Amino acid sequence: MVAEPGHWSVAVVGAGPAGLFAARELCNQGVEVALFNRDIKPGGLAEYGIYPDKLKMKDGLRAQFKQILNCGTIHYYGNVTVGENQPLTLEMLREWGFSAIVITIGAQGTKWLGLPGEQLPGVYHAKDVVYNYNHLPPFSQMPIRIGKKVAIIGVGNVMADLSHYLIHMRKVDEVYAIARRGPAEMKFDHKEMDSFISNLDLEDFEAEIKRVAPVMTALGQDPDAPQKRIASAIGRGLPKDSNTRFRFRFMLSPVRIHGSSASGVEGLELEENTLVLDKDQVKVKGLGKYKTLTVDTVIFAIGDRVDDRLGLPTNGAEYSKSDHPLYPVDETSYEVMDPSTRQNIPGLFVGGWSRNASTGVVGIARRDGVQCAAAVMQYLNGGIAPSKVTPDLVRSRLLELGYTPIEKQMLEALTRAEESQAKRLGVPEFKFDTNEEMLAAIGEAAAA
Ligand SMILES: Cc1cc2nc3c(=O)[nH]c(=O)nc-3n(C[C@H](O)[C@H](O)[C@H](O)COP(=O)(O)OP(=O)(O)OC[C@H]3O[C@@H](n4cnc5c(N)ncnc54)[C@H](O)[C@@H]3O)c2cc1C
Repeated sequence: MVAEPGHWSVAVVGAGPAGLFAARELCNQGVEVALFNRDIKPGGLAEYGIYPDKLKMKDGLRAQFKQILNCGTIHYYGNVTVGENQPLTLEMLREWGFSAIVITIGAQGTKWLGLPGEQLPGVYHAKDVVYNYNHLPPFSQMPIRIGKKVAIIGVGNVMADLSHYLIHMRKVDEVYAIARRGPAEMKFDHKEMDSFISNLDLEDFEAEIKRVAPVMTALGQDPDAPQKRIASAIGRGLPKDSNTRFRFRFMLSPVRIHGSSASGVEGLELEENTLVLDKDQVKVKGLGKYKTLTVDTVIFAIGDRVDDRLGLPTNGAEYSKSDHPLYPVDETSYEVMDPSTRQNIPGLFVGGWSRNASTGVVGIARRDGVQCAAAVMQYLNGGIAPSKVTPDLVRSRLLELGYTPIEKQMLEALTRAEESQAKRLGVPEFKFDTNEEMLAAIGEAAAA
């Protein structure tokens, strides 16, 4: 059933792709949506994760997001972080009278392995680096100390993006991509090889395949297959504009980072692994043999976990989802469950990377947002009383709490200010690095 406009009000927390497409779906059903977002700008990782030179993709997404925000019943409040340690909590959103709350804040927590040395200067999580080069405050202000020899832990698409940055922007001497498993388990998409293929040390790659070939063969894997995969990308990647040597290291698990707080990282100690098949799954088995790679920077690209400061119960890397959803969509649960009572928390929904951390591209997050909104509609249509939380009420409460909420028309002013800076500097894109600069640009536009 499509609601009478203004019949129900729903709070959506997080305006990345999942939150934005959930909001659009709710708007299409006549629901009033208050869309709260930590960052001033909407888009989440589509704005601040996708590699900066994928301009066409980013601009296409920005145009879609702008169109979504123009949907009549969506009210955007950027620069508003919600959480237990924030002026605005989830509990308060309930008290304000929203009929339902949708959590789409992505996976803002960081996964670490808990190794000795992780606190040393020169050790980063991928998110720190990615947010830094994508100009997201306050990460944009964080000093990132990249040395000459960098180890990236993980071999997925984020590793490929980091390699892009390290090879073509930072032009470091060496990049090592470290995998616990083997060449057959490399997780990046074919296209992502463009980032590093021109700098891949081919001789080293062949030697590395030869080293791990006996384990692959014992598992029934073809050691030639990864070489063919790599060969198919040669000649088609980004032009070689640095002397960086890019190398893979397979079947190795990091166990310790050597160095000191004064000198930073000096080496990464790795344990050699073998691989075994366990119920059709390739499992890692440490061999108790260790070696140290001389590097001065270590970046963990091993996925993210949700932010446990939001005030929602967690289960592993994600918020605790109900295993007995009342409103499943496509056999998927979007409802939050209290693990201590195993009761679903009525009216509380979760979507996108908050539901399934670090999983999938924008299209997947979009589908998840849409399906999450469908679950919300089932809930609302199940007899939930009308609610009206007006934009005036939200705005005044936010101001009382000390926020400076950024609404749609202010975003437009910011876009114009950044476009005019880009034009002035003769660059394809310009982003202010701090919230203060963004707020000042918005203020100037309002005063003009
Ligand atoms: C390095 C990297 C590169 C990628 N490259 C690509 C690519 O090339 N192509 C592609 O299709 N996909 C890419 N992806 C994946 C894609 O970005 C994600 O699938 C998608 O952005 C996930 O959407 P989401 O809405 O669930 O979360 P996010 O995009 O993380 O959005 C979360 C939103 O919630 C807000 N938020 C966070 N905490 C709070 C809070 N406490 N209160 C209020 N708001 C909050 C944030 O400001 C943000 O706007 C990439 C991902 C990464 C990490």
